[in-house]
Amino acid sequence: MDIGIIGGGVAGQSAAFRLANYDHQVTIYDPSPATGASLAAAGMLAPASEVNFSEIPLLRLMEHSNELWPEFVRQIEAVSGVSIGLRMDGTLIIGYESNDARDLERLAEFQRELGIEVTRLTRNQVKELEPELGGPFPFAAMIRTDNQLDNRQLMNSLQVALDRLGVKTVHKSVASLNKTGGIYEIVLDDQSIIRPDIVLLAAGSQVSGIGGLPASISGAIRPVKGQILRVQAKSNNLLNRVVRSKTFGKTLYMVPRINGEVVIGATQEEVGFDTTAKVRPIAEMLTNATLLLPGLGEADFKEQMVRFRPGSIDNAPIVGQYHSSNLFLCLGHFRHGILLSAALSKYITSAIQSGNQPGEIEEFGAARLEAN
Ligand SMILES: Cc1cc2nc3c(=O)[nH]c(=O)nc-3n(C[C@H](O)[C@H](O)[C@H](O)COP(=O)(O)OP(=O)(O)OC[C@H]3O[C@@H](n4cnc5c(N)ncnc54)[C@H](O)[C@@H]3O)c2cc1C
Repeated sequence: MDIGIIGGGVAGQSAAFRLANYDHQVTIYDPSPATGASLAAAGMLAPASEVNFSEIPLLRLMEHSNELWPEFVRQIEAVSGVSIGLRMDGTLIIGYESNDARDLERLAEFQRELGIEVTRLTRNQVKELEPELGGPFPFAAMIRTDNQLDNRQLMNSLQVALDRLGVKTVHKSVASLNKTGGIYEIVLDDQSIIRPDIVLLAAGSQVSGIGGLPASISGAIRPVKGQILRVQAKSNNLLNRVVRSKTFGKTLYMVPRINGEVVIGATQEEVGFDTTAKVRPIAEMLTNATLLLPGLGEADFKEQMVRFRPGSIDNAPIVGQYHSSNLFLCLGHFRHGILLSAALSKYITSAIQSGNQPGEIEEFGAARLEAN
């Protein structure tokens, strides 16, 4: 089949990779691939730490995707030869002072009820793992199943693999979709019209900017602003694994890369497409990060970035065929799009191949859009 994918972020590119392996002719339409949320992300594969009291089916999907990642990494790296920087060092959870510790104890109880292994650590055990961490931290625990990959290396690796598999990237924006004789066709911003057999919509937070879409789709996705920082530590063992913390009630994560870069994040703001960087959240993130890891004070400041998570009506992904048409959706990856892409790319490929919604993503299909 001839498949046109709108959007070259992790959602579009991971689907393109799996589809190209079935010998489809795949083309991605994106004026600037891999520059949206997929560029900003911290790359955590963290189903357990990200669990939310009201989102248990989503947790199970995230856990499943987490299990698929090592094999998916191997498949992409085998084609591209470019490392994705998957690290399986686990995640350390730190409660900085007593109120933070109480909150994290409650969360750990909930996580254990869900079958997640959360192992309490003594201060000495933490110091053995992470000698540079400072502060009182009355709560510390390890979640071994939460890990990370380098999302920027992932996107490089995918791009090289896609080139080798013959996937074309057209650096143009999609202005709208036309529905003619029941078939969706793509209208580019230069007004040229493309008629693929299948259209896969994976445009992240910017879906509402595409004309001609049913209102139930364009109204289903909102942008959720995230401000995130990157610093370069003097040594590449200042931090050895992901640390997630609560510090005076504020959540924070620090994600170390192999080259000494540390990603520090992130805000979550419901303010529409406001691209401004704000002093207060940046100051808070840096203050709390240096409280926990004083050595970060000597790091070089590299980058602040603002991007938008694609949040859906119920914060869960929307993946599958739209009303028995040639339009398929891979949207609403929200806070977990890197993590979820191993599974969602697999199941959207299966939906396109078979014309049926796979059981594993039954409740994340497009049918629920009409109920809202
Ligand atoms: C600060 C921050 C930290 C995050 N950390 C993590 C993390 O640690 N772990 C995790 O799993 N997730 C994380 N996420 C979430 C994750 O980044 C997103 O869920 C994921 O990147 C969404 O991928 P996407 O492909 O849907 O969107 P995007 O990466 O935004 O890609 C969408 C693409 O569509 C293109 N596009 C838009 N409109 C059009 C158009 N009209 N025509 C053609 N192309 C178009 C854009 O150019 C863009 O390239 C984080 C997000 C943020 C913002």
